[in-house]
Amino acid sequence: MEGLTKIADLGKPRVVIVGGGFGGLALAKALASAPVQVVLIDKQNYHGFWPLLYQVATASLNADSIVSPFRKILTGQDNFYFRMAEVKSIDAAAQVVETSIGQVRFDYLVLATGTTSNFFGDKQMEKYSICLKSVTDAIELRNTLLSNFEQALQIGDVEQLNSMLDFVIVGGGPTGVEMAGALSELRAHVFPRDYRELDLKQMDIHLVQSGPVLLKGMSAEASAHALKYLEELGVQVWLDNRVTSYDGYTVKLKSGEQLVTRTLIWAAGVTGAPIAGLAPEALLKSNRYQVNEFNQVAGYDHIFALGDIAQMTTPAYPEGHPQVAQPAIQQGKLLGQNIERLLQKQPLRPFKYDDKGTMATIGRHRAVGDIQLFGKQYHITGWLGWLAWSFVHVLALVGFRNRITVFLAWGWNYITQDKGMRYIIGKAKAPLEEKQLDEKAIV
Ligand SMILES: Cc1cc2nc3c(=O)[nH]c(=O)nc-3n(C[C@H](O)[C@H](O)[C@H](O)COP(=O)(O)OP(=O)(O)OC[C@H]3O[C@@H](n4cnc5c(N)ncnc54)[C@H](O)[C@@H]3O)c2cc1C
Repeated sequence: MEGLTKIADLGKPRVVIVGGGFGGLALAKALASAPVQVVLIDKQNYHGFWPLLYQVATASLNADSIVSPFRKILTGQDNFYFRMAEVKSIDAAAQVVETSIGQVRFDYLVLATGTTSNFFGDKQMEKYSICLKSVTDAIELRNTLLSNFEQALQIGDVEQLNSMLDFVIVGGGPTGVEMAGALSELRAHVFPRDYRELDLKQMDIHLVQSGPVLLKGMSAEASAHALKYLEELGVQVWLDNRVTSYDGYTVKLKSGEQLVTRTLIWAAGVTGAPIAGLAPEALLKSNRYQVNEFNQVAGYDHIFALGDIAQMTTPAYPEGHPQVAQPAIQQGKLLGQNIERLLQKQPLRPFKYDDKGTMATIGRHRAVGDIQLFGKQYHITGWLGWLAWSFVHVLALVGFRNRITVFLAWGWNYITQDKGMRYIIGKAKAPLEEKQLDEKAIV
């Protein structure tokens, strides 16, 4: 083990937060006036607003409009310290975490590390698909889709051409549905102007969902509307189906059909990103830490977990809270208050999730939302849903500059029906050597 990392010791209890996503950031802010030293450790130096990642991938937004550096967000918070590092393991007894830059001592440790993509052990899928979990993923996807179109201009063979122009999205949750909607907008409004020599009717967008409905977890109305909107946009939705294999070119479906694509977008599941070192009983099968109603990890009173990585089982949420932003934010805010209560030896307050609802947008003027208002659920769709979605997302962005940038970019995109960030900067997914199907595929 490396020696202790140089971080000023304020002589106050030190709260180390691992991960500055929605939960970790809310907690760091909530501790602004607490008599503690807050040390945030994250492997990246910025907070990312993941709900808009797909817009970076589809050239609507620049990456820097959905991220914000931690040091900028929390500038002026005197008790806040940041270290860019990856936390590798935890020594609970010694109260230190081992990181890529050495050890960091803690009095209270909060794990807010979120999730990573879950490929369910399919190594080929992991190798050849593109997932959407980080800014790097989004830029790689944008590069890949634009590079494919540039290469397609040189291709005569129909099957090869289709492998460049077609997209397969796996997973009919919000990310898959929103991605499919955004790709169909590129096909309708942007690519016909950019690639006049290509027949855009050949660009197929497939969305494969293992269950019988899209947007599982939302209301039946929302699922039905999402399907209707995608069909109106010409997306081929495969319900109750599954991708059984993908070799970078051929997609095999459970139903027997085969598709060809060089771009398979994996949005089919996530799994927790735990850190080694805690007792095995603390980690559930879901790869999430088992926490009590105060977010304390099972078996530890000074180690907490929150957000996507935490599973708090309640009668209303027997499998834990949904892995979305609001539970993480609300847990972060309450934990800030509870850490102050711990220091003052006051009883802790249990967490109760205030579900504000869920929304997804499917291209221009089309969105679905299940909104909770005054204890009742309302469904919004179409124009109203789309306006509400846009409004909520602009407000939720971190930082005034980002809100203005996104608002202006969306206004411009709306008026011009354009998506102006069509840059290929950096790497695309490595192209495969020429491939050919043995059997007849849907092309
Ligand atoms: C593409 C996409 C779209 C989404 N759309 C929506 C949506 O529309 N609405 C919604 O509510 N939710 C959405 N979500 C889910 C939402 O983003 C998550 O639920 C939320 O981010 C969880 O917050 P968190 O704080 O638990 O973790 P995260 O926000 O994931 O943050 C985890 C942080 O931990 C850091 N980290 C991880 N491991 C380590 C380590 N070992 N050492 C140091 N740092 C580490 C990471 O760098 C990251 O900054 C979406 C997610 C994705 C990926």
